[in-house]
Amino acid sequence: MKLTFWGIWAKIISVRNMRCDLHVHSDISVDSIESMETYCERALELGVSFLSFTDHLNNMSDMPKNGYYDADKYFENLERVREKYDGRLQLLAGVEFGEPHRYRHEFEQTLKKPYDFIMGSLHIWYDGLFLSQMREVSVESAFETYWKEMYKMIEYGGYDAVAHFDFPKRLYKQVIYNDDYLNEIFALMKKNALTLEINTSLLRKGKADALPSSDILKLYKNAGNAYFTMGSDAHNVQDFYTNMEKPRKDAENLGLEEVVFIGRQAVPLL
Ligand SMILES: [Zn+2]
Ligand SMILES: [Zn+2]
Repeated sequence: MKLTFWGIWAKIISVRNMRCDLHVHSDISVDSIESMETYCERALELGVSFLSFTDHLNNMSDMPKNGYYDADKYFENLERVREKYDGRLQLLAGVEFGEPHRYRHEFEQTLKKPYDFIMGSLHIWYDGLFLSQMREVSVESAFETYWKEMYKMIEYGGYDAVAHFDFPKRLYKQVIYNDDYLNEIFALMKKNALTLEINTSLLRKGKADALPSSDILKLYKNAGNAYFTMGSDAHNVQDFYTNMEKPRKDAENLGLEEVVFIGRQAVPLL
């Protein structure tokens, strides 16, 4: 990674163990009513330095209330908290874009906006069903179709990080995969300079594993990838920055390095 202006800046100001939560939903998301300000107050209490609001940008038939996302309102809200917390919090402009490879025009429009961090997410891949509607679908079939669609999303690229990589685990409580196929996906992630998110949402539901599972994280590393981002995927302030420390340490023990994204550039935390 070449050292950018932001990289140099981060080296100057950075301290070890800087706390970051790069996956947070505010009331710009269809499924959250929490204000950005509420999270900012909590971030100050917890000593979190970097916070990225990544509201859902879903397209067409993906979700009810299609078109709910309002980029102008997002940036207006963000500007307000950026001014209020200037010098105290690093507030990054993020977005969680659903299925970018299927909504290319919308994705290209999104790239023109001043986001620091764009996550690609695969929420809907099976007959237009939400995960919660897939109870009748076998776990084998769910994962087989999921990985194929994931391959397409990774092949398309153009965003910064892949959110909640083994997402069907949220419903099925297990993961089915083929090492060779995931190795191909991870090689493609390296080629397309995509970073894997470690998403802690399942941990606060009492599950032992983050998304992705640690064995999948090893494959990611072994394919030559070096970085990860941390995200709680909080939709309310109680979930903000929860269960972050252990999975981060586990990833670091594997030899992976945490990064934040500023102006779409990965900046390692030293
Ligand atoms: Zn998501
Ligand atoms: Zn999310």
